[in-house]
Amino acid sequence: MAKVAFIGLGRMGHGMAGRYLDAGFSVAVWNRSKAKAEDLIARGAQWATSPEDAAIGADAVVTMVADDEASRAVWLAKDGAAATMKAGTLAIECSTVSYRHALEMARVLRERGIVYIDSPVTGLPDAAAAGKLTLLVGADPADLERARPFLTPLSTTIRHFGAVGSGTVYKLINNLMGAIQIAGIAEGLAMAEQAGLDMKLVLEAVESGVAASPQVIRHSKRMVERNFAGATFTASLRQKDAAYAVALAESLLRDVPIMGRAAVAAYDRAKAHGPDDDEGKMIEIVSRPKSDNAR
Ligand code: NAP
Repeated sequence: MAKVAFIGLGRMGHGMAGRYLDAGFSVAVWNRSKAKAEDLIARGAQWATSPEDAAIGADAVVTMVADDEASRAVWLAKDGAAATMKAGTLAIECSTVSYRHALEMARVLRERGIVYIDSPVTGLPDAAAAGKLTLLVGADPADLERARPFLTPLSTTIRHFGAVGSGTVYKLINNLMGAIQIAGIAEGLAMAEQAGLDMKLVLEAVESGVAASPQVIRHSKRMVERNFAGATFTASLRQKDAAYAVALAESLLRDVPIMGRAAVAAYDRAKAHGPDDDEGKMIEIVSRPKSDNAR
């Protein structure tokens, strides 16, 4: 039975780890706070005391943590997974990290004989729990083939963009476009409210108009209703993705204005307002009185 070490049991990782249990893998789990692992342990997962402990005897180590800092810690800290991974073991990074970080992890882990691939995901936590994610992979073709048995339980679609790091490039592009759209719809809806338009009519027009994307449709009704129950993607994570993406944009699109910077600034404010709030609460930021926003 193949053994997976799964590290990071947040909104996404918890469901993903459960997919490996459903698929019959031997699964060791670690999370910074143990409480999130309890039901997985009851379903047969082995609790590990550290990423290093989880990785003992693993064929693949899969990480799904918040950001570069968390990723570095779970791979490379003193008790990080790399400490016990055998040469040839797969390191599958599903977290959304910066491009620079993905390349650095690939290099550092490869020096130890570990095969790192980046496989950030699209899809919400319900898709993660149902094995219906889309994986955006950067890997040598042979490494991807080795990793495939560990990717299929998580996903309905695997998109291979090219060499290691390229999955992260696309993920950051995707999420920057999303950040711009969400900030844009928040601003547009706030303007419509201030102008006293009939918001039912505005929603109808938005949803059937040319500016409608799945992202805009998903957020516009929730924004108008101020219904942010059950945050699936937080202001803090959106800000992080947009900032990583703008750093990448600055290296690729030299000497041109990067409009994503405005989205990062908007999400800096949203994150300061409520880091764990739903990203759609952006509308509360743009519709607050000017004097309030300056605080
Ligand atoms: P989340 O619920 O906030 O979970 C974050 C995870 O990272 C938790 O397991 C957390 O541990 C861990 N973590 C944070 N800082 C850490 C550190 N310094 N050391 C060790 N562990 C640390 O986030 P999520 O929504 O599951 O997102 C996880 C990743 O998937 C992120 O990179 C995100 O951008 C990406 N993503 C999310 C979605 C979505 O819809 N939510 C969709 C696609 C991709 P604790 O539980 O102890 O805090």
